[in-house]
Amino acid sequence: MNTITIKLPLYEPTNIKIEMYKKMRSNFSRACNQVLAYKKEHPTVKASELDRHIHSIPLPSTLHQEARKLAVSRFNDWKKNAKTKGFPLFREKISILFNNQNWRLRFDKGHLNVGLPTLEDGNLTIEKYVPLQVNAYTLFWVNYLLTGKMDPQSKYCQSSFEGVSVPKKGNAQLFEKKGKWYFSFAISFETNASSKTSKAIGVDRGLRLIAVAGDAESGKYMTFNGRQIGHIRRTYSRLRRTFMKAKNMKALKRLEDKEQRVIRYWNHVISKKIVKFGIECGASIINLEDLSNIRSMKKYWKRADRNINSWAFYDLEKKLTYKSRLAELRVEKVSPFKTSQECSKCGRINKSNRRKANYTCSCGYKDHADVNASFTISKRSSIGSNDQTAACAAV
Ligand SMILES: [Zn+2]
Repeated sequence: MNTITIKLPLYEPTNIKIEMYKKMRSNFSRACNQVLAYKKEHPTVKASELDRHIHSIPLPSTLHQEARKLAVSRFNDWKKNAKTKGFPLFREKISILFNNQNWRLRFDKGHLNVGLPTLEDGNLTIEKYVPLQVNAYTLFWVNYLLTGKMDPQSKYCQSSFEGVSVPKKGNAQLFEKKGKWYFSFAISFETNASSKTSKAIGVDRGLRLIAVAGDAESGKYMTFNGRQIGHIRRTYSRLRRTFMKAKNMKALKRLEDKEQRVIRYWNHVISKKIVKFGIECGASIINLEDLSNIRSMKKYWKRADRNINSWAFYDLEKKLTYKSRLAELRVEKVSPFKTSQECSKCGRINKSNRRKANYTCSCGYKDHADVNASFTISKRSSIGSNDQTAACAAV
């Protein structure tokens, strides 16, 4: 089950509405606190009696129930840790909760509106709805909720959403943050899990392009050309050779520490973007070449730079493994065998297909060489998960 929370700002709410929401909010908070106090005196009290106890507070009756449920659950939490926790108290500026039955979205004259139980008299007619602000992302989810179908043309429609179920409306909140009012709600849905477990993106690591993440299936890719990093690296490389010649080990150490800090920062940024890209592609696996490839690459690196370059590769891998796990993706290792010579379209391996940054195959496929390599890596099957190698690389 996937759950997404969508937050929408109210669109130019009138002062009358805002004053009413503030009143509802403070009454909602008061109802919560009264339930807490009453429950403390009468721990075995029934829900219906609690509801009667707060009945006189002006609120729509559904909010009486929400306040009671919220306060009772907070009370029970407190009961479990009563020795260490102070008695709970609800702030006045609380979020007002609505259960899934009690809010409605609808379009009216091109505007999205939400209907909520409020302090207004009478039935909830369209005049009582309040307009919401949407953007392309939130509109994608709103349309899915209203129609039961995801727009396959939308860039937010991931391939892992294939065979997606009808969405389930979840609970919602109305709240104020920094003077702005928002309505947020949850949507849950099931996806065809089988398509999610097998999909991989590939990441090619290099020096000219620090990393390229590619998805052969969709043809999407993302490059990190590291123009900023390249400049720094060349400067460091030159300094390092000078210090080495002069056998100035102290200066050399200082230089490496400084350089490591810069690389760490960029690897953090890059790995975060790669994981995000993986999620957007609907992948659950990030394929990396097995580390032995670094040995074969080493011959291209200047002797003085070898240590720092392999360290930078390991560091990126470590961060990628860690951040993937947080996002419920995993890093897998694939064979690095001629990934840069193999055509990601037809599988032919030909050394001369690669001419510096260009890859051209006789099958008609043409691309940036590192993009082709990332596609090839994404298609390779795993030779093991990264948990072990990451531990070894933690230097
Ligand atoms: Zn080819």
